[in-house]
Amino acid sequence: MESYKVTVTKDYIVFASAHFITFAGHRCEGLHGHNYRARVTLAGGLLEESWFAFDFVTLKHMMRRRCDEIDHKVLLPLENPKIQVAEDGDAVTVAYEGKPRYRFPKSDCALLPVPNTTVEMLAELLASRLRADLEAMGAPGLTAIEMEVEENFGQVAVYREKLG
Ligand SMILES: [Zn+2]
Repeated sequence: MESYKVTVTKDYIVFASAHFITFAGHRCEGLHGHNYRARVTLAGGLLEESWFAFDFVTLKHMMRRRCDEIDHKVLLPLENPKIQVAEDGDAVTVAYEGKPRYRFPKSDCALLPVPNTTVEMLAELLASRLRADLEAMGAPGLTAIEMEVEENFGQVAVYREKLG
């Protein structure tokens, strides 16, 4: 069976966000930001009558929407055992190993179901959100999704998952 790949990366499929990550042991970065860039590849067979594996316009639209959700936000991990994130009225408080560290307006935060906001985890998160979009529209024939997130020039993580 023939297989094709379509890839989308655009200057608007980006997100400028703040984050910090924890390392093994007792090390935690300070808050800082990146101009993240995403790139997605879908693999699959050709669709009947259209002769494409997936529509570029639809893919660009879905990717932009998923990047916009986390653009201009502080990215906070909800599943990191060393970081405690709690909502307090209109604010979000963040503690590291029990010690208060930050307080942000809630509207400036993206609370993410990840253990650490590494590019690997952000790539997996974007892939799972895009997969939900694809499943909602019933995209047939796709066999894999590959999500790349770059946080600095030449500093990239790629997450790949089989579909179906
Ligand atoms: Zn960073």
